[in-house]
Amino acid sequence: MDYIVNGTKIMFLRGDITRQDTEAIVNAANSSLLGGGGVDGAIHRAGGPQILEECKQIRARQGGCPTGEAVITTGGNLPARYVIHTVGPVWRGGDRGEPELLRNAYLNSLKLAAEKGIKSIAFPSISTGAYRFPIDQAAGIAVGAVREFAASHDIPSEIRFVLFSDRDLQVYQAAWEKLAQ
Ligand code: ADP
Repeated sequence: MDYIVNGTKIMFLRGDITRQDTEAIVNAANSSLLGGGGVDGAIHRAGGPQILEECKQIRARQGGCPTGEAVITTGGNLPARYVIHTVGPVWRGGDRGEPELLRNAYLNSLKLAAEKGIKSIAFPSISTGAYRFPIDQAAGIAVGAVREFAASHDIPSEIRFVLFSDRDLQVYQAAWEKLAQ
């Protein structure tokens, strides 16, 4: 299902983020930027060694990526031209600033995309895998941040949520519908 907010198309789909043909895809990275499992592993596998090489250069310059922030590399062999690496919070019960940090991860990714003139971007479900953020709450934060950004910016003009399972897709769609009321 597609939605329009201030001229920006918002889409929800089940799929593999490494296959998206958006100008940028977002990686749920860790602070080291040196790769990991889950979506991070899939992106580095599909995109080839160039992405890790660029991540290492960023590390050399700024020493990794703090939680809630974002950095950008090219997409290597991926269909996407860029990968925006953001670091979601590890869930530690919810009273360690996790909701705000997750929101920052989405907003800083979008801000970086807008600064680079990126018109289309795809997000995975940040922090809800190995980082164990409860997906119902994470989905509400994710769709809220995206809707807010779209309402006040012209680009990206297409924002996709690419969920890995039908259940995750349902949760994100439901969160959007709840927000839209
Ligand atoms: P985090 O460490 O931020 O929790 P994970 O990569 O462990 O990140 O999980 C985040 C979400 O990404 C999970 O819902 C997982 O199922 C999903 N995921 C894993 N591989 C892919 C992929 N290739 N495309 C889209 N989503 C993926």
